Amino acid sequence: MAINIEKYTSLLSELNGKATLVAVSKTKPVEDLKALYDAGQRDFGENYVQELVDKATILPKDIRWHFIGHLQSNKVKFIASFVHLIHGVDSISLLKEINKEGAKNSRVIDCLLQVHIAKEETKFGFDARELETIMNESPALKNVHIIGLMGMASFSDDLNLVRNEFKTLRSLYTTYPKFSILSMGMSGDYTIAIEEGSNMVRIGSLLFGERNYSKS
Ligand SMILES: *Cc1c(COP(=O)(O)O)cnc(C)c1O
Repeated sequence: MAINIEKYTSLLSELNGKATLVAVSKTKPVEDLKALYDAGQRDFGENYVQELVDKATILPKDIRWHFIGHLQSNKVKFIASFVHLIHGVDSISLLKEINKEGAKNSRVIDCLLQVHIAKEETKFGFDARELETIMNESPALKNVHIIGLMGMASFSDDLNLVRNEFKTLRSLYTTYPKFSILSMGMSGDYTIAIEEGSNMVRIGSLLFGERNYSKS
């Protein structure tokens, strides 16, 4: 599918600098990413390690790669040397592993902690109390820098529910004055997310079209 550049530019003007756009390019061919890159996009999000590594090898080096999926500890080493931001840190053991790999690569890796805000049981993330624990432990980890929070709202038509979940995340975010990134909002709910204070949205299908998982 050809990228709809008009949609991209209208989305950018809608965001109007209030939120950073992470273009979620998972399952999409490098040609599609390149088309968006040529239109000026530099932040791309992927949620499979191997796919991210493959694309990063081929595409221009000034792309900022965001890892947005569920990261397994044994795969951190493949992205530690270059990843720009890891959005979905959901356990202290994962954070420690990122710290270890950060040290090996002589860098401090920026991370967002994932908070469980949705009603669905299946979504990963911390609750408020766990968040506090991990924030107390994290200063000892010198090669990770927790710069904010990430969350996914329920996949629901109940817009009030979605809005309230974003409100919950926003209020947790504001209890940590050092945080600077609040990553919330996807193709279906980014408008509400921005109204509720998001400053980073992760948008895939709106830019690249629907994903087709069956063809791989
Ligand atoms: C796939 C994905 C997105 C983008 O979803 P769209 O609905 O296609 O915009 C955002 N965040 C995460 C964590 C994802 O896995």
